[in-house]
Amino acid sequence: MGETMSKRLKLHLGGEAEMEERAFTNPFPDYEAAAAAAGLSAGSAEEMGCVRTPPTTDEFGLPFHHDGKIIHNFVRQIQTKIKDLLQQMEEGLKTADPHDCSAYTGWTGIALLYLQLYRVTCDQTYLLRSLDYVKRTLRNLNGRRVTFLCGDAGPLAVGAVIYHKLKSDCESQECITKLLQLHKSIVCQESELPDELLYGRAGYLYALLYLNTEIGPGTVCESAIKEVVNAIIESGKTLSREERKTDRCPLLYQWHRKQYVGAAHGMTGIYYMLMQPAAKVDQETLTEMVKPSIDYVRHKKFRSGNYPSSLSNETDRLVHWCHGAPGVIHMLMQAYKVFKEEKYLKEAMECSDVIWQRGLLRKGYGICHGTSGNGYSFLSLYHLTKDKKYLYRACKAWLALFTFSPTSWYQRHHGFQHLNLALHREIKKVQRQLKYTLDQKPPDCLVPDTEPP
Ligand SMILES: [Zn+2]
Repeated sequence: MGETMSKRLKLHLGGEAEMEERAFTNPFPDYEAAAAAAGLSAGSAEEMGCVRTPPTTDEFGLPFHHDGKIIHNFVRQIQTKIKDLLQQMEEGLKTADPHDCSAYTGWTGIALLYLQLYRVTCDQTYLLRSLDYVKRTLRNLNGRRVTFLCGDAGPLAVGAVIYHKLKSDCESQECITKLLQLHKSIVCQESELPDELLYGRAGYLYALLYLNTEIGPGTVCESAIKEVVNAIIESGKTLSREERKTDRCPLLYQWHRKQYVGAAHGMTGIYYMLMQPAAKVDQETLTEMVKPSIDYVRHKKFRSGNYPSSLSNETDRLVHWCHGAPGVIHMLMQAYKVFKEEKYLKEAMECSDVIWQRGLLRKGYGICHGTSGNGYSFLSLYHLTKDKKYLYRACKAWLALFTFSPTSWYQRHHGFQHLNLALHREIKKVQRQLKYTLDQKPPDCLVPDTEPP
């Protein structure tokens, strides 16, 4: 027994050392403790309008009032930081790679950032700046990739939206036409195109749904969307048959011959897209194909509440949007909305717990594999549940970005450009706090044929 115990201890200590290497220990008390320290019993006293200690501005206090409104000093802190970071970003862009046009790490990401600033502030200057940046990407389309995040669909979709907002309908339509010209290669089953979000069909589908959300329903016709959806479903059925998993996982996907789980390259990102109401997947397919596949992936969950990077990987290591709970949580929340079963919400909350414990990443600011992408999961869960615990966690994740993260432009600049798919429809007032996101390393999750970092 002594030996077993010492092995366990070693494993435990090893795990802690591993975690230390990847993430900062979260120094903040969780919401219940912070609320208690502020004189509230979390979730009850404030609703009853009891007299309470006002929220404090220090980093361990509550950053919002009982109605969820962010306190003035915290908002000011955020606004000051945004101004400062934008200046640093513009300076840094003078030496940035002129050829990287992607939304993921390039100029379209910058255009999207300014589009978001315009949306939040209604300041036309930001819209015009966004136009400047997207124009240079539209001159440099390379035809190599087809998705919103990493391919030509990103600049074309973002360009269409910016021109639409500027009432330049001809230019907007031109972008949409070019985007739809990619369609044929997407729906062709014989092509080598994968189905995942970063390089595959689901990433093209994202661009189509983005247009219908931002410009209006019908901008891309239903039949075009349906064809892409059908191609994704057929591809999932085929692999499931080949792997003899039709009973357990009717829609199975792989990328570079590995059955990835996470949002970027894996099944959760694809199921998330198929569950979007605008994708108009019929109820029968949702219930009989998508739902059992989701449940299959759910059963791969680690005890910690985190998820593996691929079905064959049993190491509980990565807590990123691309690989791990911060990406899977969005699928679970969507499954809860679509199927109305509590188990999905419960597991989304478990994801949030593991992100709170292990999600303040040393890798930096980025949305794909940095702290801000993890912070967004709290915001999304807050929007879904209205539980202030998650707003609290989102605010603390924002604070952590500037408490722990590097300060130089070089270290930050990648993260400025990383964009999370889940965000575009989550634009609410609290989002202002976490939009300006940075990272310090290149997106190494994109390196194929290796187990991701
Ligand atoms: Zn990543």
